Amino acid sequence: MARSRQGLRGLRVAVTGGAQGIGRSIAERLVAEGALVVIGDVQKDLADRTAEALGCTALALDVTDGVEFEGFLDQAGAALGGLDVLVNNAGIMPIGPFLEEDDRTTTRCVEIDLLGVLTGTKLAGRRFREQGHGHVVNVASALGTFASPNAATYCATKYAVVGLGEALRQEWHGSGVQVSTICPGFVRTELIAGMRPPAGTERLLMIDPEQVAASVVGALARGRSRTVSVPSHLVPSVKVFTLVPERLRDRVFRAVGGHRVTSGLDVEKRAAYQRRLENS
Ligand code: NAD
Repeated sequence: MARSRQGLRGLRVAVTGGAQGIGRSIAERLVAEGALVVIGDVQKDLADRTAEALGCTALALDVTDGVEFEGFLDQAGAALGGLDVLVNNAGIMPIGPFLEEDDRTTTRCVEIDLLGVLTGTKLAGRRFREQGHGHVVNVASALGTFASPNAATYCATKYAVVGLGEALRQEWHGSGVQVSTICPGFVRTELIAGMRPPAGTERLLMIDPEQVAASVVGALARGRSRTVSVPSHLVPSVKVFTLVPERLRDRVFRAVGGHRVTSGLDVEKRAAYQRRLENS
């Protein structure tokens, strides 16, 4: 069901990973649109401060704990008088050679970036099917449509989230429940600290979290299942690029310095994010 922008007023939304970055921007924009918002995050103190600043509610949430996730949706529903939307945004991004990635990091990335999204989609999807309406918004990545070296586990999870959305768009067709998959390029948040897009491509690839938030608002207003590229030209361009034979594609990728985005990390600039990731 399409909702006019006016229709976002009073929409009851839960956002995971809403303490900072893209999740915070999504919550902020939705509050500005008149939606009622609950954010959930492992960083509860930061989530509390964010919620106070934005005028929404914060709850503790680790998306890898299914029981806690169910409780989060219960509490969000109780606080808002029901739930219309779940935004599965929480995520981490380990960077480095796959063979050197410790098993805990690999597991944690899959647990948060993939299993957390599957769990949230299933738990909210059941509620939405029962009430006959609802919208699950999954924040994937452009790296769910083209892969980068030194981000293998992350790409594996994001490809899976894009696949999930494609499957459910068909499976849930006509049910009143929508699933949107948001695929941003490089977003200026701490998650990409120390990474450098290839020279000259910054204007094409780099966006602010507010642009991702705008795409979520657009998807909710449109009210139909789809995969959304932010910026809008990125994923369609990638799809055209994937028609190029693999070896040539890899050569072009290297020629424009694509491989250096993740191999030439500024370790100092990434140190704070790395510490947060290791404690996640
Ligand atoms: P961020 O690190 O700024 O914010 C991520 C938030 O998720 C943090 O508040 C963190 O505490 C929370 N979080 C982490 N693990 C959690 C868990 N187990 N349970 C609950 N909350 C948890 O990162 P961001 O850039 O805002 O990323 C948000 C989403 O956008 C992620 O899924 C990421 O993969 C995706 N994304 C980011 C970019 C980018 O360039 N920044 C690009 C494409 C997609």
